[in-house]
Amino acid sequence: MRLNNLELTHFSSETKLPMRFYLTNHCNYRCRTPLSTEFCDHQYTDAYPSINDLTLIFKLFQKTNLTEIAKISGREPTLYPDLIPLVKELNKTANKITLSTNGYLNHEVIFKAIKSGVSLITLPIPSLDPKKYGFFTGLPEKLKESALKNILELINQLTEYNVELHFIRILIKDFNDSSKDMKDFISFSKKNKAITKIFDLNYHHRLNILISDNIFSENLVLQDSIENIWQKLYVSTTNWKKKFLSEAVKKIEFSNKISCRKVILMSMKNGAKILMDEFLPEKKKEITFCNNCMHFDYCREGPFSNGWELRPDLLIQACPLREDITINLKQPENIRNIKKTNGDIIVER
Ligand code: SF4
Repeated sequence: MRLNNLELTHFSSETKLPMRFYLTNHCNYRCRTPLSTEFCDHQYTDAYPSINDLTLIFKLFQKTNLTEIAKISGREPTLYPDLIPLVKELNKTANKITLSTNGYLNHEVIFKAIKSGVSLITLPIPSLDPKKYGFFTGLPEKLKESALKNILELINQLTEYNVELHFIRILIKDFNDSSKDMKDFISFSKKNKAITKIFDLNYHHRLNILISDNIFSENLVLQDSIENIWQKLYVSTTNWKKKFLSEAVKKIEFSNKISCRKVILMSMKNGAKILMDEFLPEKKKEITFCNNCMHFDYCREGPFSNGWELRPDLLIQACPLREDITINLKQPENIRNIKKTNGDIIVER
């Protein structure tokens, strides 16, 4: 059973993962919490990989059946100066190209990306309350108020295009997790023919950096341990998942051999589509570097769970929380082959 070919965007086969391109270290937002990954850590350095290197790496992964989907991602990909030529190049070989953007900056470039081959746009919608949305973005005071309006205008225009839409929300305690928030978000997504994606806030060992100029809740104390800060912001999606699963008229679950995540897509009676995930901790125990990891007790994502995550410096980071576990793909013109063995990615030069 297929729902919008959605399994393709996650795990298109037992051994394939999407290649997630982090095109730049820059972002125009200063989000109050990361969207679950270290790649939104507010550490900004210049790095713009070349189109040639990016497409070469993609082809090497395609050649050995490790990928077929190109996911273009942050920090904010519309800041990458060659986005459109890159999409055109990737479109020559990729089965599908997706673009994850905050949608704020350059609507024209998003429309051009669709015309050039992007068939799915993912937008984060942390809140539908303009004040809360503006607060979340960390934008300067004078821009905050109108930030959501800008995104709603974009969404309105996107519904005119032949493009899949996914609206994503990380639940944060007492910020966007009420029943009303959830109901409004799902109705809003449905109205715009988008899939609602709801995820847990993942533990992030730099969470204290991210909230250093912000207090989400009066209970947060910056001197708290990171674990405590995370616990105070974290709200489990489990009960929501149970509720949606019990009400769904159709559901599909998919995972693969590499990722520690299972993705669940539910189709509701009223036509809404909701995507959530589940962490499979048993799989993490099979990975050598996980067993020696200081974050073992808190992490709920697992290595390669979001795909082959290629940073702008052309290193693939195996785990979003571990900058030290990387696969070096610099100078890809010298790489003959990339293979996956049982536990490892082998780069043959
Ligand atoms: S290396 Fe493994 S245990 Fe450590 S944070 Fe990553 S997935 Fe979790």
